[in-house]
Amino acid sequence: MSHSPIDIDHFLDVIADFVKDKQVPVVDLIAVQTKDPFKVLVATILSARTKDETTAVASAKLFQKAESPEELATLSETELEKLIHPVGFFRNKAKYLSQLPEALKAFKGKVPETIEELITLPGVGRKTANLVRSVAFNKPAICVDTHVHRIMNIWRYVETDTPLKTEMALRNTLPEKHWIPVNSLLVAFGQSLCKPVGPQCDICPLEKLCPQLGVTPRRKTATANNKNANATPGLRLISWNVNGIRAMEKKGFTDTVIQLNADVLALQETKAQPDQLSENLKTIAGYTSYWHSAEKKGYSGVAIYSKSEPLRIITGIGNDLYDREGRVITAEFETFYLINIYFPNAGEGLKRLDYKISFNIELHKFANTLGEEKPVILCGDFNVAHKEIDLKNPKNNIKNAGYTPEEREWMDSFIDSGYTDTFRMFNQEPDQYTWWSYRFNSRAKNIGWRIDYFCVDSQAVNNVTDAKILQEMMGSDHCPVLLEYTPSANNQR
Ligand code: SF4
Repeated sequence: MSHSPIDIDHFLDVIADFVKDKQVPVVDLIAVQTKDPFKVLVATILSARTKDETTAVASAKLFQKAESPEELATLSETELEKLIHPVGFFRNKAKYLSQLPEALKAFKGKVPETIEELITLPGVGRKTANLVRSVAFNKPAICVDTHVHRIMNIWRYVETDTPLKTEMALRNTLPEKHWIPVNSLLVAFGQSLCKPVGPQCDICPLEKLCPQLGVTPRRKTATANNKNANATPGLRLISWNVNGIRAMEKKGFTDTVIQLNADVLALQETKAQPDQLSENLKTIAGYTSYWHSAEKKGYSGVAIYSKSEPLRIITGIGNDLYDREGRVITAEFETFYLINIYFPNAGEGLKRLDYKISFNIELHKFANTLGEEKPVILCGDFNVAHKEIDLKNPKNNIKNAGYTPEEREWMDSFIDSGYTDTFRMFNQEPDQYTWWSYRFNSRAKNIGWRIDYFCVDSQAVNNVTDAKILQEMMGSDHCPVLLEYTPSANNQR
C-alpha cells in the first residue's frame, strides 16, 4: 500500500494513552521479570486462546517443575496436561511442550532468534514466532494476531484477508518503531474497546477519525447500569428445549418458570414468531425476555429469560445461512457470555448432516471469538449424544442422526479444544438422559438420550459449582438441564 488514509502515529499514540492503565500482557510481563527466552517461548505457547490470568497461573505451575529444556524433558505428556490445565487446547499444548526439548537440540538447547528457525519448533506458528522474537529478543518483528489483523483492516491501514498478508503488508508500511509495541497495544485495545463483536465506537477516542470498515458497533442500549445484578454470585442457569413455547404455555409454562427460579433461562425450539407470542409469555414477572425466531413459521427458534438485564444481546452468529433458522441467541453479562443454541438435527437419512457439521464449526469459532473477551458458557440442545454412556442403545443408533461418527467427532474436537461438558464433571453414571422419544412409552422406560448440555470454556470451568439434569420437569420431550455458576471477580474485564 503506497498511501495510508490514516495517520498511524496519531492512532497508535491515542491507543497507547487509552490502554496505559490496562494490564500488561502476561508474556511481556514474564519477559520483563525473567529475561529468559525459554520461559517467554513456553508462556507464549500456553497463551494462545487463553486468558492472561490462566496463562500466568499455568506458567507459574509449570516453571516450578521445569525452568529449562532439560527439566521439561523429564515431564511426561500426562504430567504436562495436569500442570497446564485449564489453558485452552491444553492437550495439544502438552504434546508440543513434550516435543520441545528434542526440537531445541537442533539449536544447541537454546531458543533460536529468527522467525524461520522459530517456526520449526512444535506449536510455533508465525504469530508465536514474531511474539517471541520481539518480546524475548527485542528484535524487530510484527506479531499479527487476530486483533492486529482485524483492527488494521478496520482502519483501512491494510486491506488483507489473512494475518500473514497483514504481517507482510505491515512490514512495508508500518514505521519500525511501532513493530514491537503494536501487538500489545492492539490486543489490549481489541479486548477492551474495539471488540470483535460489537465494538464500542460510541465511546472510542478514535470514533471521528476511524473508517470503521465492515464494523457493526454495539447498540447504545448496552449499558453497565446492571453491574451489581450481573455480578450476583451463585447463578442458577437453566436450559430447556421446550418443543413449542405456545404448546407449553397451555400446560402452565409461566408457573413453571417461577418454579424453576432460574437467574437465566435459555429455551430452544420455541417455534414461534414474535407476533405469535402472548404478552404473558413475553413478560413473565421478574424476567426480561429476548427472542430469536426462524424465518420459517413454527420452526426452530431460541429465547432467553433473564432476571438481570444483560449488557448486550447478540442474535445469530453473523452468518445468514444459519441465522435465518433462529438457532443462536447470546447474552453478554458483566463476567461471562451465555450462548444459547439449538443445533441443527442431522435429519432423516442424514440429509442435513453436512449443514449441521458446518454450523457446528462456525458456532465453535463464534464461541472462541467471544472467549477472547471473557468466559463463555454454551447451553442448549446439541442434538448429539457424545459417548456410548449418553444413550440407551448406542449400537443400534450408529447410523442415526444424533449419534453418527461425524457428529460425535465434532463433539470430540470441541471438547479437546478446551471446553468442558459440565454434567460429566459431577456425574459419571449411565442412564442420565435429557430427551426421550414420544413413542414406545420411552420416557417411562427411560429409553433416552443425553443431548442437552451446559459446556464451558477453560476460563469458566473453575466457576462451575454444580450441573444437573432436572428429569422431573415435564411438559416437553426434553427435560431442563441446570448449571450453577459462581463468577469470580477476576473474570471481570
Ligand atoms: S471507532 Fe469503533 S471500529 Fe474504530 S477503532 Fe474505535 S471502536 Fe474500533
